[in-house]
Amino acid sequence: MRNFDILIIGCGISGAVLAERYASVGKRVLVLERRNHIGGNCYDYVDENGILVSKYGAHLFHTNDESVWEYVNRFASWYPWEHKVLARVGEKTVPIPVNIDTVNMLFGKSIQGEEEMSQWLEKNRIPFKNPKNGEEAVLNRVGLELYEKMFKHYTKKQWDKFPAELDASVLERIPVRLNHDDRYFSDTFQALPAGGYTKMFEKILAHENIEVRLNTDYFDVMHLYKNYDKLFYTGPIDRYFEFKHSLCEKLEYRSINFVTETVDRPFFQENSVVNYPGTEVAFTRIIEYKHFGNQRSNKTTIVKEFTVDDGEPYYPVPNPRNQHIFEKYKADAEKLTDVYFVGRLANYKYFNMDQAFKNALDLFTSLEEVCLEHLVTAGR
Ligand code: UDP
Repeated sequence: MRNFDILIIGCGISGAVLAERYASVGKRVLVLERRNHIGGNCYDYVDENGILVSKYGAHLFHTNDESVWEYVNRFASWYPWEHKVLARVGEKTVPIPVNIDTVNMLFGKSIQGEEEMSQWLEKNRIPFKNPKNGEEAVLNRVGLELYEKMFKHYTKKQWDKFPAELDASVLERIPVRLNHDDRYFSDTFQALPAGGYTKMFEKILAHENIEVRLNTDYFDVMHLYKNYDKLFYTGPIDRYFEFKHSLCEKLEYRSINFVTETVDRPFFQENSVVNYPGTEVAFTRIIEYKHFGNQRSNKTTIVKEFTVDDGEPYYPVPNPRNQHIFEKYKADAEKLTDVYFVGRLANYKYFNMDQAFKNALDLFTSLEEVCLEHLVTAGR
């Protein structure tokens, strides 16, 4: 006899949210997680310097969606955190997104207000009506000089592709500001969970109907778990189908090599994240976790991020070639019954955290509505 109704593969945002939602309506949920921890790439822990660090890179929560904000507040108390990023461009350190100060500092200008900034951008930008790729998107917004200094090489380091080889949406994630606003995001809700994300996941999963099995690769044990009402798969979609379309065309992912160092002084850099958009170093950015939540310690932990081809797949690579391959897997996925593909890797989409929450919540709602309709039409 089976002891679960819902089988979930992967215990990141999508898996944990679906587990919680189904448990809340009385379903028994089994979550299989390949890694030795919950939380997916949001996983954080206190390191040997007493600092809360994220194992897979900084995760900054931001959303305009009130329902997502309400949902995450059930499982953590959140403190306001407006993320800021600096970029070392040659000898200078400037804010990113590009704002008035970025332009003034890099080009020795003295722009004062929005109108002057608009004029500067108008003079420098290279207009494209519908930018077809990341290069056109950046040129259209800020012009060639800023493109070269801040975007071209950073993108090459991050994706091993130049912006011209990526969808416009990748580079359009970063706005351009006409004022002095130096926040990375402008969403209504920007915050971090007190005590960290792992604690929040523990709370999401703390339900008697949920069982989580760590260190369990679904593909090693799938023959044992064939009897489910619904299966939610949150891993890479091509792995589910045993890479069947990959003989000539493999879906690309980017991974990150996180190189951690302890520095024996109270702080290493002036901000949590400093980007290195030039070619002088191979890493893209340095994260100093101590800044998040103003943590205290005699030492500090810094992490340099080197993006690489091989390793844990973190980022899908959005461009027409990969989308084309993904569509083939998606068509296979649609043929399956009671199997759902959820999240960044299964949908091959560059989701932010709030989008991952929203998608999982919406999927649950849509499936439950179908169930309810079914019960009503069956006269039960
Ligand atoms: N980007 C860049 N220079 C920067 C920061 C970002 O060229 O200093 C580009 C790069 O292509 C990156 C994309 O903008 O992948 C999106 O940046 P974001 O900070 O959203 O990336 P993430 O935090 O998801 O790695």
